[in-house]
Amino acid sequence: MTDSTISIARLFPDLLGTYGDGGNGLILQKRLQWRGLPAELIDVPSGEPIPESCDLYLLGGGEDAPQIEAARCLGHDGPLHRAVERGAVVLAVCAGMQILGHSFPDAEGKSVDGLGLLDCETVKSDEPRAVGELLVDPLDDGVAAGLPVLTGFENHGGRTRPGPTAIPLGVVRAGVGNGDGTEGVTNQLGAGKVIGTYLHGPLLARNPALADRLLSWVIGDPAAFHPIDDREAELLRADRLRAIAHGRTDGVVHRTWKDRLLRRN
Ligand code: GLN
Repeated sequence: MTDSTISIARLFPDLLGTYGDGGNGLILQKRLQWRGLPAELIDVPSGEPIPESCDLYLLGGGEDAPQIEAARCLGHDGPLHRAVERGAVVLAVCAGMQILGHSFPDAEGKSVDGLGLLDCETVKSDEPRAVGELLVDPLDDGVAAGLPVLTGFENHGGRTRPGPTAIPLGVVRAGVGNGDGTEGVTNQLGAGKVIGTYLHGPLLARNPALADRLLSWVIGDPAAFHPIDDREAELLRADRLRAIAHGRTDGVVHRTWKDRLLRRN
C-alpha cells in the first residue's frame, strides 16, 4: 500500500456486528476504489491493538453486554482519542454512538462510563424499544447540511440526550432517533470529527451522499471525486420512502421539533 492509501478501520466486528453496520466500511472502500483511489479496510477484533494512524474509524450497533466490553477495549484516553485529535473521522452507529458519549445504560439501566468523544448521555427508557424505519432531515448548520434526507432503520432501547457542545446530525421526520426529536450527535474534536447516529441500513449504503461527505473530509480535494452511478441506491431510497409514506413503519412524526430546530441560528 502507498502512503496515499485511505485506511478504514472497522472496530470490534465481533462485538458490534449485530445490525450489519460493517457494510459502511465496504461502501467507503468501494466508493474510493471506483474513483481509482487506493483504499484499505482493516478489521480490528476486540482485544487486538487499535491502529492509531487510520483515516476513518467505524463502530456498529450491538447488544447491551457486548457494548460494555467494547467500551472497555476502547479505553479512556486511548488510541481512538489520539486518532481523532490528529484528524481522523469516526462514524459510530447506535451502540457505537452510545459508548462514545459520556455514559450509557447496561441491561438493567445502570449507568456505565462512556468515552466522552461525543457530548451526550444515553439512558434507558420506559418507552417501548424504538424499532422501525427512521427518516432524518439533516440540520442546516450540521455536518450533513445540504444532503438529501437520511434514511435507515433503528432498533434500540436507549434514549440519547445531546449535550451543549453537541450538534445533532438532524431532526426526525419519521421514527424516534434520540427521543427528543433530534437524531444523532456530532462533535468536532481537535482536528477530527465524530459522528454518532441511530441509523442502521447500513447507513452509507442507503445514503451514498453521506459516504461522500465523510470521504471529502479525508481526501480534501473535490477534484478527486467524480460522480458515481447511484441509481441502485436511489431505487432503494425511493422504496423506503414509499414504505414510510404508506405507514409501513413503527415511526412517530416529530414535526414540532423539526420546525424548531430547522429555524435554529
Ligand atoms: N443496546 C443498545 C440499545 O438497545 C444499542 C442497540 C443497537 O446498537 N442497535 O439501546
